[in-house]
Amino acid sequence: MFLKRIDLSGFKSFADRTELEFVRGITAVVGPNGSGKSNISDSIRWVLGEQSAKSLRGGKMEDIIFAGSDTRKAMNYGEVSLTLDNSDQALSLDFNEVTVTRRVHRSGESEYMINKQACRLKDITELFMDTGIGKEAYSIIGQGRIEEILSTRSEDRRGIFEEASGIVKYKSRKREAQKKLDDTEQNLLRIHDLVSELE
Ligand code: ATP
Repeated sequence: MFLKRIDLSGFKSFADRTELEFVRGITAVVGPNGSGKSNISDSIRWVLGEQSAKSLRGGKMEDIIFAGSDTRKAMNYGEVSLTLDNSDQALSLDFNEVTVTRRVHRSGESEYMINKQACRLKDITELFMDTGIGKEAYSIIGQGRIEEILSTRSEDRRGIFEEASGIVKYKSRKREAQKKLDDTEQNLLRIHDLVSELE
């Protein structure tokens, strides 16, 4: 699997529809300070479900929408699509190419799509779980992150190894199952109470 293309529209400094094509191997993005290099990596993390405006270097989520300039008015929505080559079926979808899209409107309304089909954020998170690509995964190492990885608590470092070994999905499913079990136990207790009241 590799990232083939990013399409940006109204995302941060990318007011116009912008298409970035990548080929296999190493790609370097170069440009003067403030030209938008980091905005590209922000856009990837954003599509993958980043919910923290601060970690996208903004104050609120609306800050990711093109805010206007001297010559252009602000946009009403921002949209980014990542297209991945999936010919090795690393993503468990029966398509050789997978496009994941996120769109946010100034009203705050957010939309997610997988291959142009509306989906939930959860579907995107699960799609990338254990691939190393999720928003918290190790495929995007931001400025200062290496030091963070080396110096954070061992529990935090463990998360990176869990993602690499492919067990995050199972841990997440276990958490969900445990919650359902707890809810069911609570419901059972309530039913027992009701039954003993009626007897
Ligand atoms: P450096 O080399 O200094 O790290 P960079 O090339 O990584 O810079 P970025 O940090 O990606 O640059 O881009 C910063 C630019 O993006 C700034 O000029 C900022 O005004 C612009 N920008 C950020 N958010 C928005 C927005 N919502 N609307 C318009 N422009 C924005």
